[in-house]
Amino acid sequence: MGTHEDEEKLVASGRGKWSVAGVPHKGWQCVDIEDLGEPQVQCEMCESQTIRYVHYMEHPKYEEVLEVGCVCAGNMEGDLVAAKHRETTMKSTSSKRKRWLTRKWKVSAKGNPWLRADGYRITVYERAGGWAATVSDDEKDKVFHSRRNYKTEELAKLWVFDYITKLLAPKA
Ligand SMILES: [Zn+2]
Repeated sequence: MGTHEDEEKLVASGRGKWSVAGVPHKGWQCVDIEDLGEPQVQCEMCESQTIRYVHYMEHPKYEEVLEVGCVCAGNMEGDLVAAKHRETTMKSTSSKRKRWLTRKWKVSAKGNPWLRADGYRITVYERAGGWAATVSDDEKDKVFHSRRNYKTEELAKLWVFDYITKLLAPKA
């Protein structure tokens, strides 16, 4: 249980909310997507598929946000290609994020780990008993500092990853 083909069959056979009166079948919009790391929740639309990538779907005439799988999401928004593209992007971000911590971080003269990636220079350093990060572009005319301190060096590095991912994301 878990492939896109499985979920296509579930949609086609009208499983779960696909057969419930009052639940819109069209006109939904995806508001977020999340990677749970492994298949662990049930799609709230077909109520059958166990999903890892959760597409959060919203509808003006439905109160709740539904957490659904890729194929249900695509059918709900009327654009299966968009839903699959969203999931593929999420997958590549997830694997990139996993590799991020094991990249070859250098050590600066001050002893702080730093890395050049995607056109940015990233430095993490100890601050007030925790870890903070600075991101600057190559021209150094834009410098971003993490507002929060993080408990560990790894968490500070992951903050940077998420931050840069957002900076690089195409504006909707
Ligand atoms: Zn589903």
